[in-house]
Amino acid sequence: MSEQNDPQKKGGTIGVTTNNIFPIIKKFLYSDHEIFLRELVANAVDATQKLKALAANGEVAEEIGNPVVTITADSQAGTITVTDNGIGMTQEEVEKYINQIAFSSAGEFLDKYKDQINNIIGHFGLGFYSSFMVASKVEIITKSYLSEAPAVKWSCQGDPEYTMEPADKAERGTQIILYLDEESKPFAESAKIRELLLKYCRFLPVEILFEEKAINETQPLWTRKPADLSEEEYLNFYRQLYPMQEDPLFYIHLNVDYPFNLTGILYFPKIKDRLDISRNKIQLYCNQVFVTDSVEHIVPDFLTLLHGVIDSPDIPLNVSRSYLQSDANVKKISTHITKKVADRLEELFKNERKNLEEKWDNLKLFIEYGMLSDEKFYERAEKFYLFKNSDKACFSFEEYKTAVEPNQTDKEKHLIYLYASHLQEQYAAIESAKNMGYDVLLLDTPLTAHFVNLLESKWKDTRFCRVDADVLSKLIAKEELEKPSISDEEQQDLRMAFEAVVPKEGHYYVHFENLRPDDQPVLITRSEFMRRYREMSAIGGGMNFYGSMPESFELTVNCSHPLIQLILEQKHNQTEEELHTLAAERREPQSTLDDLHKSMEKKKTEEISQEQKEEEQKLQEKITELERQRRKVMEAFAGTCPLVGQVTDLALLSNNLLQGQALTAFIKRSLSLL
Ligand code: ADP
Ligand code: MG
Repeated sequence: MSEQNDPQKKGGTIGVTTNNIFPIIKKFLYSDHEIFLRELVANAVDATQKLKALAANGEVAEEIGNPVVTITADSQAGTITVTDNGIGMTQEEVEKYINQIAFSSAGEFLDKYKDQINNIIGHFGLGFYSSFMVASKVEIITKSYLSEAPAVKWSCQGDPEYTMEPADKAERGTQIILYLDEESKPFAESAKIRELLLKYCRFLPVEILFEEKAINETQPLWTRKPADLSEEEYLNFYRQLYPMQEDPLFYIHLNVDYPFNLTGILYFPKIKDRLDISRNKIQLYCNQVFVTDSVEHIVPDFLTLLHGVIDSPDIPLNVSRSYLQSDANVKKISTHITKKVADRLEELFKNERKNLEEKWDNLKLFIEYGMLSDEKFYERAEKFYLFKNSDKACFSFEEYKTAVEPNQTDKEKHLIYLYASHLQEQYAAIESAKNMGYDVLLLDTPLTAHFVNLLESKWKDTRFCRVDADVLSKLIAKEELEKPSISDEEQQDLRMAFEAVVPKEGHYYVHFENLRPDDQPVLITRSEFMRRYREMSAIGGGMNFYGSMPESFELTVNCSHPLIQLILEQKHNQTEEELHTLAAERREPQSTLDDLHKSMEKKKTEEISQEQKEEEQKLQEKITELERQRRKVMEAFAGTCPLVGQVTDLALLSNNLLQGQALTAFIKRSLSLL
């Protein structure tokens, strides 16, 4: 043993630039103290791997045996010990790596990131030093693999002073002993240690022993070759990661080594109709060490819906999240994952279309979200997105266009895609569309309004209309509609009658069309535009103006329908006399008012005399009063003619708008009419 290598009992001051960083670390790193265990175990694993590399190079004389890291704890004494049979350290190395580098780099690190310290907690970079978050004293007892180097013991009490002395250690490797401070003592409980080891060290590549049992799997699935793995193994791995979840739909095994390193397995979970619940399940690893399960800024938002693991030594883990977003590697990784996900879906579309169709309902929300939020993904998804119609037949975008173009192009040369959001609720409208030979898509995710907006913006001359948005002859207008066959006067009268029977909540705009005699007598529709914007604002499209408007409906009276003809006849019989008198009374004031308006039109506001203004007001009042009486007459008519209420209620009923008392009244009336 040479003089030089003989460890001498000595003391010294740790080489830190910051005067005393221990208090800083205690003060700032309060929320994630538990990472100390991960750091120590990771160092121990590193030490065994370095040894292995040296041995492979023929640089280690002795047999290195199986690498193993052992954790022991004494909850009574409040100590935790991490032991490895790795490379070990000489006295010089302890001086260099622990006293100088480890501490000074931790000091620099803290200096640099003081402002964002909360962002970096739980990430790498503090290494060995993090043990002082929980320990009042730390000892290192280590013996280098170099056979001539004697063992040394380093000890530090959480201040810049340390001691170093010869140690009594025969086997190669390192032992780190933490003497926990009072408040950190619970970390020495066996249940706590097990919990932390399972969280951070479950997939470490070297055997980790705790209470004589290995707690880890050294070759987790993502590190193995896809060709060697079965479907069942992928499923089991998923079940192991997410014990409470339903089985996933598909998986992708990622394996990249250029221009960055990345491995992992991503699973497509079943996503029904809620985006939030399955979010943030991807676990991020760095060389098999668990880092975090919040990957928001590492993968694009829509990909956070996926589950699984990503392992990359190239994601800079010791910096803040805002930095991550602009990091070139992180961007490349995002792009790559997006591409892989699209590749997989396209492959399914091409080679396993039936499988894809079967799983589509659980997948479409994810895909629509991706298309809405990522342009690149949109371009890819155009090739594999599946339109599903009301009869559950699936079409690619292109196939669908070819199928509906001949029959669903209107007179303006717009291609109209009809869709429904609910097969039951919109049953009547779907049926009548199908009777006209039209196809109806089922688009029923919470993103539908946004999604059809997106498609309309991408596709020229294409419009999406929900099947109940208007009468079909207007949704797909192939020719000009003829003018309604009843007079304006009569339309006015009937409008008043219908307004008397519609529900009080919501606005109903009554108008008249000559539809086909076998169409419904009355149709209630909701304008596509209003409905869509209302839906978009409901899920946070920002258009709150539309969201706060009362619901409005179009009530179309089909003048060609025999029942409407019948109502007109009855109206005529019952109200002719009264309406005639009111109209006669109105004639004179109306024509005087019209004349007055004509003469006023030519004048400027200040030239209109007070007299004229008063006269105008009087005439106006008279006419309003007559109109009020007319409305009364029509309300009375609506009250005595059950048909008006009946045809309206039927329309409400087929739109799910008839409820409670109104529904009961309808049933009673129906029975009496029978
Ligand atoms: P990092 O692991 O990022 O290098 P650490 O602060 O965790 O930083 O460790 C500092 C250095 O101390 C390591 O690089 C290594 O040289 C040395 N070291 C720490 N733990 C061990 C160990 N168990 N065996 C051998 N060397 C170790
Ligand atoms: Mg380390």
